[in-house]
Amino acid sequence: MEKKQTINFGAGPAKLPQSVLCQAQKEFIDYNGIGISVLEMSHRSSDFSKIMNTTENLLRELLSIPDNYKVMFLQGGGSGQFSAVPLNLIGLKQDMCADYLVTGTWSSKAAKEAEKYGTVNVVHPKLESYTKIPDSSSWSLTAGASYVYYCYNETVHGVEYNFTPDTHGAVLVSDMSSNFLSRPVDVSKFGLIFAGAQKNVGCAGVTVVIVRDDLIGHALKDCPVVLDYKVQADNNSLYNTPPCFSIYIMCLVLNWIKNNGGVEAMETLSKKKSSLIYDIINSSNGFYTCPVDIACRSRMNLPFRVGKKDGDEALEKKFLDGASKLGMISLQGHRSVGGIRVSLYNAVTVEDTMVLANYMTDFLKENQ
Ligand code: PLP
Repeated sequence: MEKKQTINFGAGPAKLPQSVLCQAQKEFIDYNGIGISVLEMSHRSSDFSKIMNTTENLLRELLSIPDNYKVMFLQGGGSGQFSAVPLNLIGLKQDMCADYLVTGTWSSKAAKEAEKYGTVNVVHPKLESYTKIPDSSSWSLTAGASYVYYCYNETVHGVEYNFTPDTHGAVLVSDMSSNFLSRPVDVSKFGLIFAGAQKNVGCAGVTVVIVRDDLIGHALKDCPVVLDYKVQADNNSLYNTPPCFSIYIMCLVLNWIKNNGGVEAMETLSKKKSSLIYDIINSSNGFYTCPVDIACRSRMNLPFRVGKKDGDEALEKKFLDGASKLGMISLQGHRSVGGIRVSLYNAVTVEDTMVLANYMTDFLKENQ
């Protein structure tokens, strides 16, 4: 019997390009004819140095990262950076404070973590629900803030900025974990960008940190050495053993992005895929509802309810069961939000998305 196809719409760890998995499988036991796996390779060997350099060069090329930025590959995940960012940057100015935009679970967690190290100012009126980005005219940035922090794409709530916040010259820090390399970004507008790899650029274990040179070397006295950007930058991310295999997988994914047209092509596909789903939601006469303001609906993570505005749980279960029978998995909304969440990262194809779109159309006809 032919194996039924599985389409993974999970929010992360998430789908990887098929060709990346095939290449990793091919090289798994014997990397490049050297007789050992990347899993077994010294991080100080010339073979691993080549992998590391290629990964960094590909990233620099894909994002046109200016020369005055360091690229680091660190452990600790996105959550590690929630601590590392304030530990390294909150002391940039004597007031020891930072401005945060809190538009969902992840920026909220980051702000809470930063409170341990200084004063955190949430610069806009508190949101009742994470379904919009407060109008920038309502933001009041703090004159002595060391940096302004935001999460570019809120993975749980499906809220994505369609603009780069104007910080009036203050250092801008962005968590791009869930939309990294899904669209072009002008790195020069940022002081620091970080992204966990397990959504758009590989597997769990490695987090990319891109930081402007002049922001390195200001860590608080108590900053753990592995989180200190100066220590990691001075040692080319090799102060301690890096997540070698995760970096290798990232290298393959970056190569795949390059060979498939770069971030511009990823953006074109991402617009196409997300429109396929949002168009069905918008024309469903309220059968499917997305709570997020149209202007900031995420192209990566699309949350919606089925049946009625706050969701008909029985119908949502039926929706998920039916999808699962067709091989579509990990469509359940985050436990804090409920409903359905579709993640359309770079590796999810237009064809995959069409399967879901057709299912949504059929389900609507049969159940409305
Ligand atoms: N930031 C965003 C936007 C995320 O989606 C996540 C995890 O899903 C994190 C940070 C936390 O990442 P990690 O689990 O690698 O600590």
